[in-house]
Formats: sequence, structure tokens, C-alpha cells
Amino acid sequence: MRTRQAIIEQTGGPEVIQWREIELPDPGPGQVLVRHSAVGLNFIDTYHRSGLYPIDLPGTLGLEAAGTVEATGDGVTHVKVGDRVATFGPNRAAYADYQLTTEDSLFKVPEGISLEVAAAVLLKGLTTEMLAERVAPVTPGGWALVHAAAGGVGQLLVQWLVARGVRVIATAGSAEKCARALALGAEHAIDAGAGDLAAQVREITGGAGVRASYDGVGKATWEASLAATGRRGVIASFGNASGPVTGVNLGSLAAAGSLFVSRPTLFDYYREPTERAEGSAKLWSLIESGRLTVEIGQTYPLAEAAQAHRDIEGRRTTGSTLLVP
Ligand code: NDP
Repeated sequence: MRTRQAIIEQTGGPEVIQWREIELPDPGPGQVLVRHSAVGLNFIDTYHRSGLYPIDLPGTLGLEAAGTVEATGDGVTHVKVGDRVATFGPNRAAYADYQLTTEDSLFKVPEGISLEVAAAVLLKGLTTEMLAERVAPVTPGGWALVHAAAGGVGQLLVQWLVARGVRVIATAGSAEKCARALALGAEHAIDAGAGDLAAQVREITGGAGVRASYDGVGKATWEASLAATGRRGVIASFGNASGPVTGVNLGSLAAAGSLFVSRPTLFDYYREPTERAEGSAKLWSLIESGRLTVEIGQTYPLAEAAQAHRDIEGRRTTGSTLLVP
């Protein structure tokens, strides 16, 4: 099957993304050929492109897509031709019309969920499940701080926490983004550029600080997360949108009140088949029950992936972003 595929020969800015046409072989044992209806853009794609997360070069891009099974190899038993499926990883070749992947990397998409929504939510929604349910669960009534709350993961995390009964303080980069976070159930939304963030969080929480800070912004917000998290609370530092957090003095965790820090990755928390089945079942069920809405804030033709990278890195996107073949 012929497909367009994004490729980078060197790391750098969005301009290093090139396109090639290749012939994919027929699926081998355990393999499945998927025709993409939509590809999900993720901030991690920019780390692969920039070299922050090193990949072998030349390398392909894109982790998340949803579509239809076009062909299956020998021994494939869980999906059949025509099934609606979504995938994140493992072969990082989602920026394409077609993808050859392994059966065990596929999630069946329930009937009531469109392939566009599936491509917009699978990776980000499972990240949300990992954070809210397993890395740093907060008991109902407790406070949580969610940075970049109008972004892809951020919007889902606000809603997931609210569905658990957690009280959310959001941060976001503009008044419009703050309004979006409030509409999704956050009790407070603080402009990320305004004043002393941690002091505002302390004031809202009566001095106690939050039980958990979910921080995908990284370098620019680490100190605020540290100062806003209450005694024996948790910082889930899960991303680097503003740059990586480095050189942390562990003593600062003691000084802030015996804090816990986790630096989780989805690819670890979703290794086991049972984890994949349980996590995705929770995600689909929250969407089907209407408690989790997925905003597809931007849609680009697949060939304009470089522009999509510019926009997500330039903080010009809200919610999830799709690339459409
Ligand atoms: P988003 O849609 O959230 O985009 C990133 C957001 O970060 C921006 O919209 C912006 O929101 C905020 N931001 C703050 N400072 C900057 C900056 N200097 N440059 C760019 N953005 C900035 O992206 P995703 O939903 O795809 O991912 C969110 C985070 O989650 C990323 O850090 C990503 O790496 C991480 N992630 C981690 C996973 C894991 O397994 N650990 C899995 C999936 C995602 P605003 O303008 O409102 O501040």
C-alpha cells in the first residue's frame, strides 16, 4: 500500500519535517495495516522533532491516530478488516495516510465515538487516566493544580478530576483559555503570566496548598508547583512544554513539606495488557457518559503538520489538534 509519511533527516525546527511516498509491505505475522481517518498532534511530537527526546535518524513522526483496519497478517485474532481502531505508538509513524502496526498496539473504538474524537483523545486521555487515577490521585474534596488547563491533556485532566470530586485550580496562558478551564469545571483559573501563582493558590486553599500539582509545562512552572503544593503533597511533573526541569535539589522537597515528585511516562504505565484494557475502558466510558468532552480546537491537512507544530509551540492552540490525511 502506498502512503505519504513524514520523515526528519535531522532535528530542528518545524521546517525539518519532510514528506516521502513509500510502499508499505503486506502485514506480516501479528501485524495490521490501518488506514488513518485522523492523526492526533501531541506536544511530544515536537520533542522528537527538536531532539529533546532523541530518536534514530532519519526518523518518522507521530504517535496517535485512528482509522480502519485495511488488512491483517497471520495470527491476528483481536481485530479484523473494517474494524474501527486507534493507536498510540509504538512505531512513531502516525503522520501518514496508512500505518503498519502491531495488533497489541490497537484499541477498538466504541461505536458511539467518532474516529476523529478517538484520534484527539486516546494518547492524551490515557495520560490523564494515568495522572488522575494512578500517579497522583486526590481524594474527593481535595484541591489540585492543573497547569496549561486549556491544552490537550489539560482540558481532559480538569474534567477527569472534577468527575472524581476533586476541586481544581487551573492555570492557562490567556483570559480566553482561563474561561475555557472554568467552563470545564475548574473553580479558579489563574493567568499563567500574572503575578505570584503560588501565592494565589495558597490564598485560595486557605494557606494549605494543593494536594497535587499536575505540571506538563516544566521549566517555567516548576518553582510555582513546588511552592503551591501542600505538605506531603505530590507534584506530577509530566512534560516539558517550556523546557525540561533539571538540577532539582532534593532538599527543596523537604523544605516545602516532605513533597513527593513523580516523573511518569504513559509508555511505562500502559505496558501491560490489563493496564491498557482497564485504562481505555475508563476513558471510553467517561466520554460515553458525557462527563468528558473532547474539544478538537484545530484541524490541519496532514501536509501542514509543520504549521501545526509552530502553533502548538507558539501556545496558539486549545484542546486537541488533528491532522487529517
Ligand atoms: P498542550 O495542548 O497542552 O500544549 C502545551 C501547552 O503548554 C500550551 O498550549 C501552553 O498553554 C503551555 N505552555 C506554557 N509554556 C509554554 C511554552 N514556553 N511553550 C509552549 N507551550 C507552553 O500539549 P499536549 O496536551 O500535547 O501535552 C501537554 C503536556 O503533556 C506536554 O508537556 C507533553 O509533553 C505532556 N505529555 C506527557 C505524557 C507523559 O507520558 N508523561 C504523555 C502526553 C503528554 P498556555 O498558553 O495555556 O500556558
